[in-house]
Amino acid sequence: MLELRAIRKAYRMGSETVVALDDVNLQIHRGQSVAFVGSSGAGKSTLLNILGCLDRPDSGSYRLNGRRIDALSENDLALVRNREIGFVFQNFQLLPRVSALHNVAQPLVYRPMKPAERFELARRALARVGLADRGHHLPTQLSGGQRQRVAIARALCGQPSILLADEPTGNLDSKTGEAILRLFDELVADGHTVLMVTHESEVADRCQRVLRLSDGRLVSEKCNGGDLHAR
Ligand code: ADP
Ligand code: ADP
Repeated sequence: MLELRAIRKAYRMGSETVVALDDVNLQIHRGQSVAFVGSSGAGKSTLLNILGCLDRPDSGSYRLNGRRIDALSENDLALVRNREIGFVFQNFQLLPRVSALHNVAQPLVYRPMKPAERFELARRALARVGLADRGHHLPTQLSGGQRQRVAIARALCGQPSILLADEPTGNLDSKTGEAILRLFDELVADGHTVLMVTHESEVADRCQRVLRLSDGRLVSEKCNGGDLHAR
C-alpha cells in the first residue's frame, strides 16, 4: 500500500549539508505494524515526517495507495495528509482549551460533513479508545494515558490508511505505556496499518517488522513472526 523508492533528504546548515535519509527503499502492506529504530540522528523522525506527508523528500518517489504523492502541490499534500494519515505525537499535541471530543473532531473540520456527523465519528473514536465518558473533559483534566488515548482517537477518527506514532509511550510511565501498546495491538488486529518510531526494543518487538536506520540508511530488518515479504 505504500512504497518508497530511492528517498533522499538533506538539510542545509550554512555551508554544510546533513544527509538525513539516503537511498531509502521500503514497501509496507496494509495491516502491517512496523517499528523504526536506530540511534539519535539516524533519520527516524525525518522518515516518519515524509511518510506522514509533513515533509517531502529531495528526490525519490513515494506512492501511497497507488498514487504518487512526492510531487503533489502543498495543498494536495495537505489533503492527502488529512485524509490518509493519522499522526500520534509523543507530546500528544492536544488543543488545551477545548474538550476531548472537540480535539478528536478537529481534523474532520476539513471534511465536507455536518457538525453532528463529525461529532458522531469523534464519539465513536473516543469510545474505541475507552474514553466514551470523557468527551467533555479538557486535556488538563485527563491523565497522561488518557491524553494519549485522545490523541489516538483523533488520529483514528478520520479513518486514515496509516497510523503514524512518534515514541507513543515516550512520555508515559510503564504501566500506562503498556496499556497504550495493547491498544495499538488491538488496532493492528483490527486491520489498521501502524508505523512507529521508538527507542525501546520491547516496544519495537511488538511490531511485525523492525527496521533499523543508521546514518540515514535502512540497514536491517527483523521480522517478528507472521508471513512477511522479504526486503
Ligand atoms: P532521529 O529521529 O533518528 O533522531 P532525525 O531524522 O531527527 O533523526 O535527524 C536525522 C539527521 O538530520 C540528523 O543528523 C539531524 O541532525 C538532521 N536534521 C534533522 N532535522 C533537521 C533540520 N530541521 N535542520 C537540519 N538538520 C536536521
Ligand atoms: P464545550 O463543553 O467544550 O464548551 P460545547 O458547549 O460547544 O463544548 O458543547 C457541549 C458538548 O457537546 C461538547 O463536549 C461538544 O463536543 C459536544 N457537541 C458540540 N456540538 C455538538 C454536535 N453538533 N453534536 C454532538 N455533540 C456536540
